[in-house]
Amino acid sequence: MKITNKIDEIVLAVTYRCNSRCRMCNIWQIKNHENEFSLEDIKKLPRNLKSINISGGEPFLRKDLVDMIKAIVDHLPKANIIISSNGFASDLILEKTKEIMKIKPNIGIAISLDGIGEGHNDVRNIPGGFERILETIAYLKKAGMNNLRIGFTMGDYNTHELKRVYDVANRLDMEMSLAVTHSSDNFFKADNSLDNKAKMIDELDWLIKQELSSWKIKRWARAYFAHGMKHYLKTGQRLLPDYSGKANFFIDPQGNIFANDVSSELLGNINSTKLEDLMQKNHEFKDSWMICTARPAIKKHKTKVISWMLKNKINNFVK
Ligand code: SF4
Repeated sequence: MKITNKIDEIVLAVTYRCNSRCRMCNIWQIKNHENEFSLEDIKKLPRNLKSINISGGEPFLRKDLVDMIKAIVDHLPKANIIISSNGFASDLILEKTKEIMKIKPNIGIAISLDGIGEGHNDVRNIPGGFERILETIAYLKKAGMNNLRIGFTMGDYNTHELKRVYDVANRLDMEMSLAVTHSSDNFFKADNSLDNKAKMIDELDWLIKQELSSWKIKRWARAYFAHGMKHYLKTGQRLLPDYSGKANFFIDPQGNIFANDVSSELLGNINSTKLEDLMQKNHEFKDSWMICTARPAIKKHKTKVISWMLKNKINNFVK
């Protein structure tokens, strides 16, 4: 494995409070919300961090989210910040985002959308949830937020929704990022299974073609990510090495540190362990292919990724 000397990104779950009831995740059932990551804890993050994904639970349910973003910007002025939200608390999200945009105008927000209409509501178990999400997106756009994307999490139950969600994302002029349900003792749920991988692979083939037909390099990178997802579904292995525990980490609301969000091996706590020290050690974790573990690898293997993108862009063009 290549040596890495920088931590590229962390996923920071700032709370496990959640107003959704997703079928593929049991975080919403967690009752203990004591000692959540504090503003002071932000100062324990490495200063050269390039990217931080504020996750949850539902991050907007944190009363001090605006102060938290301010503390992150003060401590990590150059870091990209993305908030992952289920999009259900429209008024709250709008109110806080307006404040956050004054502090970090280019902050990104990813809103989960797993199907259209009842398709989404069935996955998230929130009646009327789809309409609320459209409302949230409309509010945020009106408020001037333009770094908005849709996050589609694919499982057996909604593979058929991928094309429809992609179409809605295009119509809303938003990019769609992709995840496939994983099983984890630590995050999501331990008993998610994928029984119809062939159907998923067909849908991913379609998605790869769509992304490659664009003229945006970022979309070609999304095509590569989907290509990596196909490979992972077929073989259970990654296309590129995993730098989890070195270039990327996951931190839960109590400050517990894991190599990534599907790893259940506790590496330490932010109060007593420096992430930089953990980078020097080797950690055991199962293979996964998620954007937070793929992105650092894609950056470290640019030549390989770019040559795949160019070759497949040309193939896609001449077909
Ligand atoms: S997937 Fe996200 S929105 Fe759904 S229950 Fe889990 S934390 Fe909440």
